[in-house]
Amino acid sequence: MVTHVIGTAGHVDHGKSTLVAALTGIHPDRLKEEQEREMTIDLGFAWLTLPNGESVGIVDVPGHRDFIENMLAGVGGIDAALLVIAADEGIMPQTREHLIILDLLGVERGIVVLSKIDLVDDPEWLDLIESDIRHALQGTTLQNAPIVRVSANTRAGLDILLETLEHLLADTPSRPDLGKPRLPIDRVFSISGFGTVVTGTLIDGCLNLGDEIEILPKGLKGRIRGLQTHKKKTPYAQPGSRTAVNISGIEVKQIQRGDVLTLPGLYQPTQRLDARCRLIPDAHAPLQHNSEVKVFVGSSEVLARVRVLGTEAIHPGEEGWLQLETYSPLVVSRGDRFILRRPSPGETIGGGIVLEPHPQKRYRR
Ligand code: GDP
Repeated sequence: MVTHVIGTAGHVDHGKSTLVAALTGIHPDRLKEEQEREMTIDLGFAWLTLPNGESVGIVDVPGHRDFIENMLAGVGGIDAALLVIAADEGIMPQTREHLIILDLLGVERGIVVLSKIDLVDDPEWLDLIESDIRHALQGTTLQNAPIVRVSANTRAGLDILLETLEHLLADTPSRPDLGKPRLPIDRVFSISGFGTVVTGTLIDGCLNLGDEIEILPKGLKGRIRGLQTHKKKTPYAQPGSRTAVNISGIEVKQIQRGDVLTLPGLYQPTQRLDARCRLIPDAHAPLQHNSEVKVFVGSSEVLARVRVLGTEAIHPGEEGWLQLETYSPLVVSRGDRFILRRPSPGETIGGGIVLEPHPQKRYRR
């Protein structure tokens, strides 16, 4: 049973995929072969086994998804992040961007993996890079994250990394069962002989074989014909699990990424929500009242108009309240984290938390 989900972050080529392969023994090609052999569904994640036997999902099978999608896969955020930084290069622009996103999403647990240490002979260089990293982490949610030196090639430090991860996850609460299951859909496909299958990370409740389900925002009704979590078929899925759901009564072409699978009557889609938001210090411009942004929440990505409350703009590095009027319906809950990007050029400018998914009041001025 997978109880926790972690994600990798870090600059391109700093060794994320190689590390995941070294930790899990799962290579993308092998995964595919195995799946074909075992007829199981690619859930878009790998898993590793901690020294205590716990199975931990990693939402990053190499090459699978882009970073923000990965980080949002658990909606409330992943349980912990591995921020991978290559020892020969140190902090790079994407390292900083990912660190900011982790901070905006409120990811409070993480390990900095100083990778490729086999490429560096000089211990003083490693100390220097580490102090650089400490400096960059200051003021972020990962400020006290341990730094572990590893080489995926020689496997040096991998045991220590697993022990550190076990320690970190030991006091991480498992995802709550609020009796309101929702699965933000990240992939839709059909399997011959089975029909429609959707995948995502299940949150806020359980799903059972035979359940009547609803897919929002369209309100499509169907039934759960099959469930798979981890690598196994199962009669029920628990919050926090990467899950594949085989649905009867709904066609593949009726569903799209960003839709939410839930039980009938639990959630109402919304096109207006109140939120608290923080702009990153490096944002190139203030977030102006009435400007347009792209909102990433769950597996959805929608355009929205920003109504800034009480002031004309939120400035870089500042926090504020806003109302988002989305151009298409979203299914969100109080407390969901989101990321804001400018539509073009695609710049991550901030993020926040949903305060009210169905506000009475409309802030248009
Ligand atoms: P990603 O883009 O962060 O997923 O990086 P990759 O895992 O694809 O690695 C980028 C390159 O670094 C590849 O050529 C890897 O073979 C190499 N690499 C990864 N880990 C190590 C390591 O521990 N030692 C050395 N010497 N090279 C590594």
